[in-house]
Amino acid sequence: MQFLYALRSKGVTDTRVLNAMERVDRAAFVKGLFAERAYEDMPLPISCGQTISQPSIVGIMTQALNVQPRHKVLEIGTGSGYQAAILAQLARRVYTVDRYKRLVAEAQTIFTAQDITNITAFTADGSFGFPEQAPFDRILLTAAAEDPPGPLMAQLRVGGIMVLPVGQSDAVQSLIRVTRTEDGYDYEELRAVRFVPLLEGLGAD
Ligand code: SAH
Repeated sequence: MQFLYALRSKGVTDTRVLNAMERVDRAAFVKGLFAERAYEDMPLPISCGQTISQPSIVGIMTQALNVQPRHKVLEIGTGSGYQAAILAQLARRVYTVDRYKRLVAEAQTIFTAQDITNITAFTADGSFGFPEQAPFDRILLTAAAEDPPGPLMAQLRVGGIMVLPVGQSDAVQSLIRVTRTEDGYDYEELRAVRFVPLLEGLGAD
């Protein structure tokens, strides 16, 4: 309850998003010593030198994405798998990709343990998206790009929404929402955020 209260006070007000976040136990996605801090609104370290995002930011991004039950969603940056697990409560199917094989394997183990069956997790450089399953109704990046990657823009369905942090990795970034229209793209700036950078190629582990 405390957890949901904190989310609401930070601007996560969409009931479907709050319900989804209530159903997914963040502690399952955080290991060892850090598990006891899982309900605090802060990012925490995970394997491969990466981080699980702050819950309120996960909520704000999920809310901005406005996911509907029939949607096919692509997430770039699986990390712990927490964000994908929340998207999976709201969408028909979630594809999630990370450049670290180890993170994908660990996330997959948690999805199975939590009985979440509508996520496909795989290892690749997510900047190129997943052409085999395009177009997507929704695309979410959880690593910061300098600009929205062209292949991801192309893989967004007309009427579809992409939410991503843009900016240099060592500076304050902006969370933006891109909506694909019949004849182009609309851009909206949502707030300042700070994410790890979107990197090229595969990770070492
Ligand atoms: N969504 C995650 C947090 C992501 S942290 C969660 O809920 O826990 C950002 C992730 O993006 C890291 O795991 C990093 O490995 C991944 N990443 C960075 N660049 C990438 C790329 N080009 N392709 C795929 N994943 C990438």
